[in-house]
Amino acid sequence: MSAEKFPRLPTNLRISVKVNTNEKGEQESVETDLFCDKGNCGKEVGIYSDGPKTTHNVVCPEHGLLTSFPSYEALKKFTEVLANKILAAHGHGTITDKTDCIPADDHPDPKSVN
Ligand SMILES: [Zn+2]
Repeated sequence: MSAEKFPRLPTNLRISVKVNTNEKGEQESVETDLFCDKGNCGKEVGIYSDGPKTTHNVVCPEHGLLTSFPSYEALKKFTEVLANKILAAHGHGTITDKTDCIPADDHPDPKSVN
C-alpha cells in the first residue's frame, strides 16, 4: 500500500478507495473504507449512529472512539473529498452526483435502544 493511496488524515483515520467498473470498463461506483491509523493498527473501523441526522461515531475495535461526525452528510463529505484527491491522483474520474459513493459501512449503534 502506497502513501498516496493511504494519505495521512488530520484524524486517526486512513482511507482506502476502490473503483468499481462495469463490463465496458467505465467507472460505475467508488467504494471507500476507513481504517484506524493509531500506531500500526490498520483495523477497519465501524461507524455507529442512531440515524443519518445524528452523530456518527467512528470506532476502532482495538482503540475505541477515534473521531465523530455531526451527521451522515458530514461523514460522506469527508470521505468524498479524500477519495476524490486519491482518484484524481490516479487518473480516475472523481465522485460526482452521477457517481455512486459507498461510504464505510453504516452500522446501527448496538448500544441504542429502538
Ligand atoms: Zn485501532
